[in-house]
Amino acid sequence: MTLFTPTSVAEQAIQLEDQYGAHNYHPLPVVLARGEGVFVWDVDEKRYFDFLSAYSAVSQGHCHPRIIAALMQQAQRLTLTSRAFHNDQLGQTEQYLCQYFGYDKTLLMNSGVEAGETALKLTRKWAYKVKGIAQDQAVMVFAEGNFWGRTLAAISSSTDPSSTNDYGPLLPGYQLVPYNDLASLEKAFQANPNIAGFMVEPIQGEAGVLVPDEGYLRGVRDLCTRYNVLFIADEVQTGIGRTGRRLACDHEEVKPDILVLGKALSGGVMPVSAVLASDEIMLTIRPGEHGSTFGGNPLGCAVARAALDVVQDEQLAENAEAMGQLFRHRMNALRADTDLIQLVRGKGLLNAVVIKERPEYGEETAWELCLRFRDNGLLCKPTHGDKIRFAPPLVITEAQMNEACDIIEKTVKGF
Ligand SMILES: *Cc1c(COP(=O)(O)O)cnc(C)c1O
Repeated sequence: MTLFTPTSVAEQAIQLEDQYGAHNYHPLPVVLARGEGVFVWDVDEKRYFDFLSAYSAVSQGHCHPRIIAALMQQAQRLTLTSRAFHNDQLGQTEQYLCQYFGYDKTLLMNSGVEAGETALKLTRKWAYKVKGIAQDQAVMVFAEGNFWGRTLAAISSSTDPSSTNDYGPLLPGYQLVPYNDLASLEKAFQANPNIAGFMVEPIQGEAGVLVPDEGYLRGVRDLCTRYNVLFIADEVQTGIGRTGRRLACDHEEVKPDILVLGKALSGGVMPVSAVLASDEIMLTIRPGEHGSTFGGNPLGCAVARAALDVVQDEQLAENAEAMGQLFRHRMNALRADTDLIQLVRGKGLLNAVVIKERPEYGEETAWELCLRFRDNGLLCKPTHGDKIRFAPPLVITEAQMNEACDIIEKTVKGF
């Protein structure tokens, strides 16, 4: 196995980012130049399994030919009109999304956080126009450990001090409850008639792939219905096949009032996000009250339809289910062999392992392990210190999964 040997090209790329870019990320030292399917290649043509998939955005695999063809074709016709005019891509894409996910209407944005913010604005509007909450009194409930992006509205619900420190004052009208705790949620709903919505990830991704107990989502659905509170599912990371179903909510056959999608909605080709809801909710926002210059642009629309076609036609949810079981089976076998791996958890191809700290590396143990994975040809990143998320593109084959697990096994045993 060839080791990672930074050349002047790689070193220069890293140095330029360091000198001219904001220091708002701490990337693994590897400089990528090309991708195809489950693989990426660095500037020295060394090949890696991509086991992060851009935080699940590249679920369809890097540069999927069908999605790239849709991009190229549309890019040569029309890229942006703004919503000041109609375009021939938006309506058919909205229809496609509504039929694919079973909602009356959709509102297209770009990044995931914009879709989350749109869901919140819709919820507040609905609270005042439909539920009848007094002006400016609406409260949004979130689960502790949530992550939905980096804008001020998003970090205002964060319980991670590194997200909020020195960014105050934060947005008012927020309330937190523990994740995976229906009793606390009901208590919150009982105590305050001004609660408008509960926004929750079906599996908490950034928190380290926290899978709630079976029945949690059904319980959330029941409580929200009983207390007339909107159930907003943030499926930006868990949606579109990632957890082995079309949506993670499908595992418990629940339908959220507002569905938030992003990331894999474009197969990682460009930012496309969407909010889906009923007419009752969506039509509370009137013309001129919300929008985005790039939201619903024809290029993103064409790409999103192709990206969803690929998930359907290649049965990626089914493959994620099967390959996820293989992955967890192999990781649990490895866990029995080494004390470095404490816990394996996840659903479909959204998985994490919890690493036991080694005294010589301390809190850097998971990071050091990721450097060794890189040396051996597999890319992934620690999240919250001691957890490593493994989320390859959903197009991974059984042979590729076994080869990747061999790399993980060899690396862990040699650590
Ligand atoms: C990544 C993510 C977001 C934010 O998406 P961006 O495109 O980075 O703004 C929102 N919710 C969840 C669950 C995410 O994982």
